[in-house]
Amino acid sequence: MLIGVEETIQWLKNYNDKLSEQKDYLSQLDRAIGDGDHGINMARGFQQVADSLDDDFDDVSTVLKKTATTVMSKVGGASGPLYGTAFLKMSMACKGKEVDAGVFAEMVEAALGGIKQRGKSEEGEKTMVDVWSPVLDMLREGEFDAERLKKTAEDAMQNTEDMTATKGRASYFKERSQGNLDPGAVSSYYLFAELADVIGK
Ligand code: ADP
Ligand code: MG
Ligand code: MG
Repeated sequence: MLIGVEETIQWLKNYNDKLSEQKDYLSQLDRAIGDGDHGINMARGFQQVADSLDDDFDDVSTVLKKTATTVMSKVGGASGPLYGTAFLKMSMACKGKEVDAGVFAEMVEAALGGIKQRGKSEEGEKTMVDVWSPVLDMLREGEFDAERLKKTAEDAMQNTEDMTATKGRASYFKERSQGNLDPGAVSSYYLFAELADVIGK
């Protein structure tokens, strides 16, 4: 498995398309246990990301760095700085390297570390961490498989439904946050699913 500049740009553009398609759904999920803006935040920010990628880039790291900067400034809410940190950490982790399965695992490890540090969050708190963490576990197991990546992220996203939120706005809902998917877990699932689709082809 190798991800080059072209695949990275395709991945992020497809992710933007997905977010724009699912904007209302993501905001609806966030209405149940938050303030109803996750779809709007993500779709607005990643439209800017997609627009910023019609350019020449030397390597994957540079594409991800550009993405991080745009996400930090254009995606609002809690998710903006969290996804921004994730992309920045991924960019740093692949600097000067070809992105193969091993490097990709290191990138996800760095991103997860960044999200947890920035969000002061851990596994099991019903956030995007609950998708990134199982994905990292899967990537560490060895042999890369795009379908497995997608399935792991999907199952992890689904598992947030029964969790009780203890971080972010959803934590205000306490036990009432149960029975709803975490919006950031769903947008994180889309991110890995879109990557799997680009690589799988
Ligand atoms: P806001 O809550 O500020 O309106 P969004 O609605 O865009 O921001 O994003 C909410 C998502 O961000 C949640 O569904 C959750 O996945 C994620 N999130 C919020 N706070 C944290 C945190 N402290 N750590 C990790 N993820 C978090
Ligand atoms: Mg919100
Ligand atoms: Mg908000």
